[in-house]
Amino acid sequence: MDPNSPKYVSLTFDDGPSAYTAYILNILKRYNIPATFFVVGSEVKKFPNLIQRIDTEKHVIGNHTWNHPDITTLSKNELWREINSTNIEIEKIIGYSPNLFRPPYSSINDKTAAAIEKFGMTSVLWNIDSQDWHEKSPFAIHQYIIKNLKNNNLIVMHDGDQYGSGPRNQTVASLPKIIKYLIKNNYHFITVPEFHQLAYKIEKWS
Ligand SMILES: [Zn+2]
Repeated sequence: MDPNSPKYVSLTFDDGPSAYTAYILNILKRYNIPATFFVVGSEVKKFPNLIQRIDTEKHVIGNHTWNHPDITTLSKNELWREINSTNIEIEKIIGYSPNLFRPPYSSINDKTAAAIEKFGMTSVLWNIDSQDWHEKSPFAIHQYIIKNLKNNNLIVMHDGDQYGSGPRNQTVASLPKIIKYLIKNNYHFITVPEFHQLAYKIEKWS
């Protein structure tokens, strides 16, 4: 890693909104950090106020399907319904719909990737999995991320607790420590759209 080149980090949170989302938003606010939330349509319907808050506080919202299925098992029509119903639900609350999409379980193939692109959505994965879904301790999550840092980091964490990934207390507890470390080490915090713009500008990914 070149110590002189600027370092970037994009925090992303999947599977929300949930009861934990407000805690995460409070932490992000405390440090004035933008993030990107890939939300599930069925949960958006339950927590419209959180979607409103995410948007008001200048974070980016992405689509993570309506029911969190493995999209490679769906027909094109079923996939469209998963994406479109979620977009409609989000638009009802904030007045516009997302164009970023994250496939549940990072399960995607050429066919689904092509369909998603045709629907006008951009698929987003990550280059660091925080492993918070393994129910690691806050310390272990923090250590794991630090050990895997690159110059440009797109990190996945979870604010939702469905889909077999356990309670999110450890994610909430680890976040201030992770953010403090990154600030201290001169990482710039950016959203996923900013991360993509940057990707066009830099030739080499580290
Ligand atoms: Zn998910």
